[in-house]
Formats: sequence, C-alpha cells, structure tokens
Amino acid sequence: MRQSKNFTKATKEIPKDETSFNAQTLIRAGFIDKLAAGVYTYLPYGLRVLTKISQIVREEMDKIGGQELLMPALNPKENWEKTDRWGTFDALFKIGNSSDSKEYTLAPTHEEIVTPLAQKHVFSYKDLPIYPYHIQTKFRNEKRAKAGLIRGREFLMKDLYSFHVDEDDLNNFYLNAQKAYFKIFERCGLLDMTYLTYASGGSFSKYSHEFQTVAEAGEDTIYICEDCSIAVNSEIIEDQKGGCPNCDNKKLKQEKAVEVGNIFKLMTKFSSAFGLEFTDEEGKKNPVIMGCYGIGPSRIMGTVVEVHHDDRGIIWPAELSPFKVHLIEVKSDNKEVREEAEKIYEELVNKDIEVLYDDRELSAGAKFAESDLIGCTFRVVVSEKTIKKNGYEFKRRDSEKSEILSKEELVDKILIA
Ligand code: ATP
Ligand code: MG
Repeated sequence: MRQSKNFTKATKEIPKDETSFNAQTLIRAGFIDKLAAGVYTYLPYGLRVLTKISQIVREEMDKIGGQELLMPALNPKENWEKTDRWGTFDALFKIGNSSDSKEYTLAPTHEEIVTPLAQKHVFSYKDLPIYPYHIQTKFRNEKRAKAGLIRGREFLMKDLYSFHVDEDDLNNFYLNAQKAYFKIFERCGLLDMTYLTYASGGSFSKYSHEFQTVAEAGEDTIYICEDCSIAVNSEIIEDQKGGCPNCDNKKLKQEKAVEVGNIFKLMTKFSSAFGLEFTDEEGKKNPVIMGCYGIGPSRIMGTVVEVHHDDRGIIWPAELSPFKVHLIEVKSDNKEVREEAEKIYEELVNKDIEVLYDDRELSAGAKFAESDLIGCTFRVVVSEKTIKKNGYEFKRRDSEKSEILSKEELVDKILIA
C-alpha cells in the first residue's frame, strides 16, 4: 500500500478526550478513530491488525473442531426472558422502537441464541459433541468505557460454545480449549505475560478460568503463583485464603492485568432453561452439558499496544504487524532513489509480502518518526547512501541495529521471519 494513497493521516497531537495509552497511540498512528466513548472505527491499518488477530483465533478454534457460523447481534427479548437475563444482565442495550412493537437487545453474549439453535439439531448422543463459534460484534453498556479498545461498548468477541453428553467429555474439551488459547496468546506475542487465572465458577462449577495479561493499564488485579505459573483473581483470593489453588504457596505476587479471555463450564444452566436434551444409548433423555469460551480480538489489540511499545510508538509482534515491511524512500525528489524504491516495492509485493511504502514527499525525520509510531516489524530504507552501497538498509522495529543487505538477503530475511 502506498502511504500517499492512505486517506487517513497520522497526527502528532494526543487526542484530548482519550486517557488510555492504547487508544491515544492507535488514534495518533491512524489505526482507529473514536466515534463515542467505547465506540471506534477501525481504519485501514487498524482493520488489518484486527483481521489478523481474528484469523489467528479462527485457525486455533478450527484446529480443536470449532465450526464457524455467524449469529445475529439483534436478539428478541423472549430469548433473554427464558434465562431470566432480560432484567438481570446490567450491561444490556435495549431497543424499544422496532416496527413490530417488540423489544430487542443488541447481544452482549450468545448463550440465548446458540442454545435454542442447538435444540433444532441435537437429538441423540450421536449428534454430540458440537463446537459452534463465531467472531462477532458484541454490545455492552459498559459504565466506564475509558480504557480504549480494552473496554468497548461495541467490540469484537469470539465466543465458542461446546455441547456434550457428559462432564468428562466437557472436561476433555475444556483442557483442549485452554491449550488453544495459549497458542493464540503465543501467536499474538502475549504468552510471556498471560496467566491462566482461577476465577469464580458461578453456581455450577468450582472455578472458571480467565486468561489475564499483566499490564499497567489492566483494570483487574491478579495474584500470581510463580511456582505454578498460574494466578487467582480478586473475586476468589479470599476464598483461597490468599494461597495458590494448585500448591501450598502463600506468597502470591499481586499485579494489574487485562482479562483477555474467559472460559466457563456452564454445565446445564442454559440447556435447562431452554429444555435442550439428548437421548442417550439407553434411550433415556438427559440435559446437554455445555461450556463457553470467550476471547476478545479488539481487547487483545489494545492490550498488545499497552505491552509492546517504546517511547516512539508501537512494536507489533510479527504475526500482527499491519504490514510486514515499512519501505521508506529518503529524498523522493531524487529520481534514482524514487526508481529504486519503486522497483523493490514491486518485487516485494510480487512475492506476496505486505508492504507499506512511504512514497510521500516528506523529510526523512518525519518519515522515520511516523514509521516508529506505526510499528511495522521490519523497516527497509532506500536512500542515496544505500544506492552507493549497492543494497538496502534493513532494521527490525524491536532493535536499534540496522544493516545493509543485498536484494536476495533482504527477501530471504523477510520471508523466513
Ligand atoms: P470484564 O470483566 O473485563 O468486563 P467480562 O468478564 O464481562 O469482562 P466476558 O463476558 O468473559 O467478559 O467476555 C469474554 C471476553 O470478551 C473477555 O475475556 C474479553 O476478552 C472480551 N470482552 C468482554 N468485554 C469487553 C469489552 N467491553 N470490550 C472489549 N472486549 C471485551
Ligand atoms: Mg469474563
């Protein structure tokens, strides 16, 4: 993509009405635009990152048997009355002016839709297990939407629901889902600071599990057992008498963290509400056992910015970088430089490498500052100096060292990364 053609512009100004680092930085760098508190447009760079995170989530869910579908955001009130959540889910947005005089909500989660859906297709033990999921826009009337992408009122969530014949089968899948979540956090560059965190399990199971990423900007507090590499959240730390649920360790380390994922054994809570049953091998009817597995691609995007940056800007992990390479020509008015940059741009693009090409007539300083702010994994510079040296200047965003490479070396470095 040619930067001269991007219709949005980066800005030096820190947006006054944003207090979170992730939103300030993403707005300045041209990834998102704020419409209202907790409501953002994803601009071309931002949508690329969000799509990459969603694709990682999709791949890891598909590997454990997930089947992708897309359920509606607009939900009839009846479904939410069946589970008693129309009046009790406090962040529910409600719509009362529909043309059929019915009430609707903009869904904050989808148990109320996926359970009656499963009921139309699950009859016998032979129809189980199933793992439908979607990556979809959720709505929650969050009271404090001040954390940028970390707490949106409109945000993206992947929610998978599992349906089983018994608890053993649920437990097996639940462990697979945990592993898949860690794979996602690894690919998003969050593995080192993300902890499996014991949280309250609701009325049906002892614990649920959150995935908490340690970050100053976090709104949650967790207590880490460094021996087990797990944590306990603040809801249950008292029940745990301040100790690790896995060992005797009482010296837990307190940290601020962002809840990037949450998995839950729902057991029969929703299947009972909708009467979702299956016939077992003996011909007996039983309630279906359920689990749910949430993760927030938009919250992950905000969290990554909070933990991967320096004072110049964002440092995207390789798999999330909006473009793999930021190509910068220094002195666009020099014909030789322009031609050389155009040539390497075309060659990289022809090799299916994603390139952001700064072809604008701006000072080198301005280009480099904006490049550091945007934070693509690799930077390639074409200048009078590099032409003299018969190569290209190559630098990783996360390193201060640059080197001159030949075209072949450059392409190799980029392709293997
Ligand atoms: P929180 O306690 O932070 O409000 P939650 O426990 O209500 O979150 P869940 O219902 O467990 O959230 O949602 C599943 C996942 O969806 C969360 O782990 C998070 O990644 C994401 N998520 C939830 N609420 C938001 C939000 N307001 N903005 C962005 N992502 C969110
Ligand atoms: Mg949660």
